[in-house]
Amino acid sequence: MIRITCLGAAGSVTGSNFLIESPGGKKMLVDCGLFQGGRQMESRNWEDWGFDPQEIQTLFLTHAHIDHSGRIPKLVKDGFKGQIMTSPPTAELCQVMLLDAAHIQEMDAEWQSRKNKRQGKGGLDPLYTTGDAEASLTLFSPVERDRVVDVEPGVKARLRNAGHILGSSILELWIEEKGARLKIVFSGDLGKQNQLIVRDPHEVFDADYLFIESTYGNRKHRSFEDSKDELVEAIRYSVAQNEKIIIPAFAVERTQEILYILGEFHRKGLIPDIPIYLDSPLAIKATEIFRKNKKYYDEEAQAIVEKGYDPFDMPNLKFTESTRESIAINEKTGSAIIIAGSGMCTAGRIKHHLKHNLWREGASVVIVGFQAEGTTGRKIVEGAKRVRIFRENVAVRAKVFTIGGFSAHADQDDLLDWISNFESNPRVFVVHGERTASEALADKIRTRFNLETHIPTWKQQLILRPTETAYEEPPVEEAAPDAQTMIMNNIVDLENALKELRKRAKTKGMEEGVTEEALDRLKYIQEELQEVLPNG
Ligand SMILES: [Zn+2]
Repeated sequence: MIRITCLGAAGSVTGSNFLIESPGGKKMLVDCGLFQGGRQMESRNWEDWGFDPQEIQTLFLTHAHIDHSGRIPKLVKDGFKGQIMTSPPTAELCQVMLLDAAHIQEMDAEWQSRKNKRQGKGGLDPLYTTGDAEASLTLFSPVERDRVVDVEPGVKARLRNAGHILGSSILELWIEEKGARLKIVFSGDLGKQNQLIVRDPHEVFDADYLFIESTYGNRKHRSFEDSKDELVEAIRYSVAQNEKIIIPAFAVERTQEILYILGEFHRKGLIPDIPIYLDSPLAIKATEIFRKNKKYYDEEAQAIVEKGYDPFDMPNLKFTESTRESIAINEKTGSAIIIAGSGMCTAGRIKHHLKHNLWREGASVVIVGFQAEGTTGRKIVEGAKRVRIFRENVAVRAKVFTIGGFSAHADQDDLLDWISNFESNPRVFVVHGERTASEALADKIRTRFNLETHIPTWKQQLILRPTETAYEEPPVEEAAPDAQTMIMNNIVDLENALKELRKRAKTKGMEEGVTEEALDRLKYIQEELQEVLPNG
């Protein structure tokens, strides 16, 4: 019997992490991603692994996105010394992404430590450091896709193109040990048909067990051609007003897709010659990796190369690497297209560009990617009249274009099409999706293909046998406090602090109890409180 424990991307889209234990005691992982989105979800990054990292021989990595790769440095910090089997472009992209992720972890810890010290509490260590990220890069062992590799005695694996981002892979795994013989397939994140740059997902015909992603398991994407028309419209709108076009974009794949599309617009003369800035050091590095890896392009991208063009370049494109160059963009008047991160407007240089342009009538903000609840990007999409950026309330007068057709994920129809290739009858585990998306997809899989489906919960253990399946529930844990309880606790703390402050203000006066600086802070707290209140 083979046991698989679903330690991430089970009941959620982030934190992808599956532990595989073979009958002979081998331990392997599929993906080791970061949990993202909200404090409660992110607190999982700090939890115990649920296994000993030293005992893991192999980590199969489906692709470079941080929700699949972002905990690798922590795994190494905690003792992992095995090999990381992945495609060559994924290994290259991880070099820039994991170092960037480590830098963010270090900055976060520093910021939190300073805050803690002001409150008389201790400092905080980062989840992992640049040193941990560097150490993890030495363990990557890239293998070309489509080749069956002997991973260790009794275990064979093959990576197939998943068509999601450069280097993204489906994992086929054969385990033959102590009489058990099974083929397990992990879809990884699957791309849609005819996605830019990368080839369509490889068909897989057989498996005993299939783990399929369901990010958009309940959705159908809008047409790609319509989306391109909308982008042209947004650009022309702001050019006519002599204002800027701001595009928040994820550094890997979405940025390169936008450059690819802008290149096409340029060659066809669809948009005027205005400066285009790629204002993100991470996206610049990722774009260089895309440029180098031409052999992984699809036919259309290769045709562009054969005609003598670089699909990610045009004469008016500038890479702004330094902060000085970035600041200079907003000192120039006139129309320009600015592509910057983060993709959900929560950090990075995009915040500066929004601060400078969001309030300007005639400017446009073009949303091309998923915006999670609670992010600045989501507020802009939902029509907020003003948003808070760098402690300032910035009015939203720019025109907001939300373009839905640039997703790098298969939608429900694409996922079902891909499953229709199976000639065997695999048992299907629906993972990597919010509950409603996973349920919708599982429903369709059952009714259309008559396959047995199951949606694993976080930490659930799956027992895989050649002829039967059993589920073992994880030990019941104390539930994390819900938002309301957390708010109530915070209010009690606040009330106590205010009481103490009132007492000091009354008795000791300005010298000891309440300083000018404290007044400033109080004002800040008051502003923050107003942000917390709905319609505030
Ligand atoms: Zn992905």
